[in-house]
Amino acid sequence: MSNSVITLKLSEAQEDMLLHQFRENRTAAPAYAKWQVRPEGCVITCYSSGKAVFQGKDAAVYASAFHPAAQPDAETASTSADILPQAGSDEVGTGDYFGPVCVAAAIIDSTTIAEVRRLGVRDSKALSDDDIRRIAPSLLRLLPHTVLILDNARYNAVHETNNINAIKAKLHNQAYVNLERKYGLPSFCMVDQFTPEASYYRYIRQEPRVIRGLHFETKAENRYPAVGAASIIARYAFLVRWDEMEKKYGMTLCKGAGAAVDRCAAGFVSRFGFEELKNAAKLHFRNTEKLHGHR
Ligand code: MN
Repeated sequence: MSNSVITLKLSEAQEDMLLHQFRENRTAAPAYAKWQVRPEGCVITCYSSGKAVFQGKDAAVYASAFHPAAQPDAETASTSADILPQAGSDEVGTGDYFGPVCVAAAIIDSTTIAEVRRLGVRDSKALSDDDIRRIAPSLLRLLPHTVLILDNARYNAVHETNNINAIKAKLHNQAYVNLERKYGLPSFCMVDQFTPEASYYRYIRQEPRVIRGLHFETKAENRYPAVGAASIIARYAFLVRWDEMEKKYGMTLCKGAGAAVDRCAAGFVSRFGFEELKNAAKLHFRNTEKLHGHR
């Protein structure tokens, strides 16, 4: 499938996020379009109707971030989901205005797979926060794993010179470097794909150690138990940090990046000042611009 076309209806917040993420790849918009960006392997055109058209060989990779049902191309989807041992990695928090970005990697082998399945890891997408809090501690005990937490202060500093996919690539690579150092890596490692493979390796080419030979698939957390386990572990790390932040600030924070988050951010700024936001939120989100009256 060398030139697939995927059309999605995006929310305004998703549109903003997409345009911001690829603002360096912006090109002149065609007639009737609001804007167009051309990241590697894809042309994304956003229309006034709110429709976004993803076109090109990596369209499915870019669209998968916004569409739960978007599946990888049949030809790239492998039948290797049951390979053991397997390592998998996933990240969380990139769509939440408040809170850190967390990346986890985990290894599953023939001695742990039955227990992983019993815990219900396969259905990771359908898990509530309460499910995550219940399942994750068992996974942490059971599986060799590593977790990286990029707190908001560091995220905001790093984001000045790295786009979000570069940040994700560096975190995934570092998670595998740490996993390798602690436990050794199995020959099969699967990344829940967020960018084309060539871009991934370009983002990390300056890193002191680059883990090569990784496999990449979108929606991998539903198919590969090691990726599902990594996504639960990453989500748990995020929730633990979230609880700490709510305790520190003595207020309930809002997940996501929608209108409720705008109200929450306004409340936060009126209590702690605009400067403190850099320690609690991802400043490049549009939510920050909407705070103008509160600065
Ligand atoms: Mn993911």
